Amino acid sequence: MDSPTALRTETPLDVLRRVFGYDSFRGFQQEVVELVTGGGDALVLMPTGGGKSLCYQIPALLRDGVAVVVSPLIALMQDQVDALRAVGVRAGFLNSTLDLDTRALVEAEFVAGEIDLLYLAPEALSSRATLNLLDRGRIALFAIDEAHCVAQWGHDFRPDYLALSMLHERWPGVPRIALTATATSATRQEIATRLKLTEARHFVASFDRPNIQYRIVSKREPRKQLLALLRDEHAGEAGIVYCLSRASVEKTAEFLVANGIAALPYHAGLDGATRAANQQRFLREDGLVMVATIAFGMGIDKPDVRFVAHLDLPKSVEGYYQETGRAGRDGLPSTAWLAYGLQDVVQQRKMIDTSEGDAAHRRNLAAHLDAMLALCETVRCRRGQLLEYFGQPASGGCGNCDTCLEPPESWDGTIAAQKLLSTVYRLHRERNQKFGAGHCIDILLGRSNDKIVQHRHDALSTFGIGADLREGEWRGVVRQLLAEGLLAVEGDYGTLVLTEASAEVLGRRRTVTMRREPERPAATGKAGR
Ligand code: ADP
Ligand code: ZN
Repeated sequence: MDSPTALRTETPLDVLRRVFGYDSFRGFQQEVVELVTGGGDALVLMPTGGGKSLCYQIPALLRDGVAVVVSPLIALMQDQVDALRAVGVRAGFLNSTLDLDTRALVEAEFVAGEIDLLYLAPEALSSRATLNLLDRGRIALFAIDEAHCVAQWGHDFRPDYLALSMLHERWPGVPRIALTATATSATRQEIATRLKLTEARHFVASFDRPNIQYRIVSKREPRKQLLALLRDEHAGEAGIVYCLSRASVEKTAEFLVANGIAALPYHAGLDGATRAANQQRFLREDGLVMVATIAFGMGIDKPDVRFVAHLDLPKSVEGYYQETGRAGRDGLPSTAWLAYGLQDVVQQRKMIDTSEGDAAHRRNLAAHLDAMLALCETVRCRRGQLLEYFGQPASGGCGNCDTCLEPPESWDGTIAAQKLLSTVYRLHRERNQKFGAGHCIDILLGRSNDKIVQHRHDALSTFGIGADLREGEWRGVVRQLLAEGLLAVEGDYGTLVLTEASAEVLGRRRTVTMRREPERPAATGKAGR
């Protein structure tokens, strides 16, 4: 067997070609490889599929010693190591899944320098035994994968990552490279600070994924809308459907199967063996649909995922970007589709109100949700808004998102907003009872149902004054007011309450522009594909 470790005279490009079989580097891969090979620190931000792994794998082969790769993705370590071995690179991993004999073998290989890469879970570095082991071998570099896990208010925070700041103190001469696919500039700064990467050069790739078509539709009958998308545009293709709860994962998977779609469930409530089996099938077979909670997907390298569909609203733009980023890693046209409705806003606001943690934590969650809502309600190009969120200026429309393909109409919703807000005001003032969006809309539409009659709400001055809009349009009004903070929800029943800003609308000091709700579900934008 020829030596997988780079020959003395080899350049990074030689290794790329000889070992990995690629012709040329992508983006700034070469600069990163040269920097780290020469002993420098790097912080690498690249979208999913951008090619982060080679940024540390090639230096691992070019430098003396063993590269230690810290990754939270225990379930994928075996796959990563297998993939390296398949191209002749000697690699191993240590995590809780190994039996004692295998562990001893890998440890011996590390100490003897018989492997080039060693994958570790972050918690391993909190154990004295592992630290002692690392002291006995020669470390080529530290690669910290999924580095955003160190960000405390991020959506993937892992406390074990905080301990990684000691790598620098304990092994000051060993270069470190941190990598992530998620990063606003705030997250990037947090990674640099917490990992003490003060000298690291930052490499920030474009976050644009031009082959992904972004679409956000208003939620009516989400499962049926999803089925239409799969049948009309993605028949027989692989994709991921994200749901918020385990129960809804189960129901959605059953619904799809009952409708002839090959779908599998994945969530943390399934036993480990089922989860692993479903994940393997999704990776290896063609055209399977994985219905999952966000527990699924980090580190999944399946190039031909043709669509990512969200049946519930993601909690942040970061999460949305990362989840949708699993589509189209092969560069071919793919769809990111999200169905979003009033109930999502109510539910997520409630989750924030009842979440643990202090006020600052809740404010942070609310700010993340607000950015996500702004993306949903925008009448601008979705891609432009997404890229700007990540600090990348965008100009003009992209031509490959729903608002570019079918520009939404906007309308002056000020009067509608006033009608709704004054209904909320009257309910609150007169009885101080708990009434949700549905009841307010019934009043506006002038429906004399039991609840209305019982509370004599047919006598309110706003009863029936909203008959000019349909129910769906009223739900859109409520949703957009909630999204803009002109209305809020409270308590277990989603009671609508006014905010300070509501007064500006009621007092005619502020106008409200709204996105028009389409009469029927939006045409399934085949355009552009
Ligand atoms: P990331 O970790 O950034 O999501 P990976 O490192 O898994 O991405 O790379 C994504 C895919 O791109 C992999 O299949 C990888 O082999 C391929 N790839 C990476 N760099 C190159 C390159 N320079 N030329 C061709 N293919 C590449
Ligand atoms: Zn666009």
